[in-house]
Amino acid sequence: MIVAIDGPAGSGKGTVTKLIAKRMGLINLDTGATYRCVALETLRRGLTVEDKQKIIDLVDDLDIEFEYENDDIKVFLNGEEVTSEIRNMEVTKIVSQVSSIVPVRLKMVELQRRMAKGKDVIMEGRDIGTYVFPNADVKIYLDANVEERAKRRFKENQEKGIEGSFEEILENIKLRDENDKNKEVGALKVADDAIIVDSSKLTIEEMTNRVEEIIKERK
Ligand code: C5P
Repeated sequence: MIVAIDGPAGSGKGTVTKLIAKRMGLINLDTGATYRCVALETLRRGLTVEDKQKIIDLVDDLDIEFEYENDDIKVFLNGEEVTSEIRNMEVTKIVSQVSSIVPVRLKMVELQRRMAKGKDVIMEGRDIGTYVFPNADVKIYLDANVEERAKRRFKENQEKGIEGSFEEILENIKLRDENDKNKEVGALKVADDAIIVDSSKLTIEEMTNRVEEIIKERK
């Protein structure tokens, strides 16, 4: 079974996906983390988003793996744990542009499909229901207004000790929304057969219950 959860940054995808995975015994695949690994390696090699060909080439050197421990996903890049590092502001600032490079996307989509093969998964991202798995069993598009999303991300970052002011986060989310919606391949959009859940006024519990209800109805 494939459950696709798409939506913009801060819409609650990560939180809901994690809780649903636990409740329903599904494997949680965070596709944003794969693009974040490419962005992190871009920075580590001293490259900028202008170095497109070098970024395309470096993808072949990456071994990205997820490990699951106490409901949390640990992300490994070439054997090194980078779970926290891929969330930092430097990575967040370039990840949308890095993930706009078409050959990078094609390689990451291949990896994401491989990771899901033969498993019951709940996969979160921007293009899961439209591009990665257009035949997903359940498609949900989680949304919320931009201020609410920035507020959530700011709070989450503070809890995790990740730097960045509220204004910086709001600005970054607006830029990423714009860039993600205008990608040549895998743009952020609502799949024709997706159910939209507006989480702006919902608590985490309400959001999760609603998503669980939809999955159960569709199954
Ligand atoms: O979900 P997260 O905020 O970690 O994703 C980081 C970035 O990766 C997004 O802003 C988007 O540009 C990109 N992304 C993507 N397609 C996905 C998941 C993430 O282009 N399926």
